[in-house]
Amino acid sequence: MGIIVLHTRMFQEAIRKYNEQAPQPFTPKVVLFDMDGVLYDSMPNHAKAWQRAMAEFGIHFTAEDSYATEGARGVDTVRRYAKEQLGKILTEQEAENIYQLKAQYFHEMPTTNIFDGVKDLMQKIQNSGLKIGIVTGSGQRQLINFINEAQVTTAFDVKRGKPNPEPYLMGLQKAGNLAPCDGIVVENAPLGVRAGVAAGCFTVAINSGPLPDVALLSEGANVLFDTIRTFSNSWEQFIAACNSY
Ligand code: CA
Repeated sequence: MGIIVLHTRMFQEAIRKYNEQAPQPFTPKVVLFDMDGVLYDSMPNHAKAWQRAMAEFGIHFTAEDSYATEGARGVDTVRRYAKEQLGKILTEQEAENIYQLKAQYFHEMPTTNIFDGVKDLMQKIQNSGLKIGIVTGSGQRQLINFINEAQVTTAFDVKRGKPNPEPYLMGLQKAGNLAPCDGIVVENAPLGVRAGVAAGCFTVAINSGPLPDVALLSEGANVLFDTIRTFSNSWEQFIAACNSY
């Protein structure tokens, strides 16, 4: 009982802080999920593919690097590290070749699993009368089929990727021309949290990777959970806090 009360108060405090900054009060109507590292445990494979491809070109790239750059365009990440470590300015095509190698290595790996807690959370969200959207820079559309009635926004729908807010603003539009205060963004990456916050949405961080919590909180995440299972277990308290405003 004590834990439930503590959670509700924690959420109320987070909503109060959000409302201080936002032009309109928080009235959640849709939950917009990032995909890699939030719904799918795919980041370890992305990290391995990145490290393998970069190493072939003499670039030292750590697992932490892959989390810190997650959400950026692949070619931009390649060009940045080539410049920093090799002093080389790569053309778009040269960077694209390295990125394509990374993509090839990723696709050669076994498919990844949905995180524990995702399906329970989706059910709870729908039971609460909220919509579900997916906002991803990935093209792995087939992975998302397990969610009924979810609007999907991919890299093909926007001109600018995360950390630009455009993907999440597009997600709000697809959910029925909703306002930023109607949206909850769920992200695992610093650049993704930055995009959600820049869109004006209440942003939930799931720290499923090796970065310290501060890497997500310093980008403006309103609340943080260690796993999507914890978020799912806390959903009732979260909604209670929303309804108490
Ligand atoms: Ca992600």
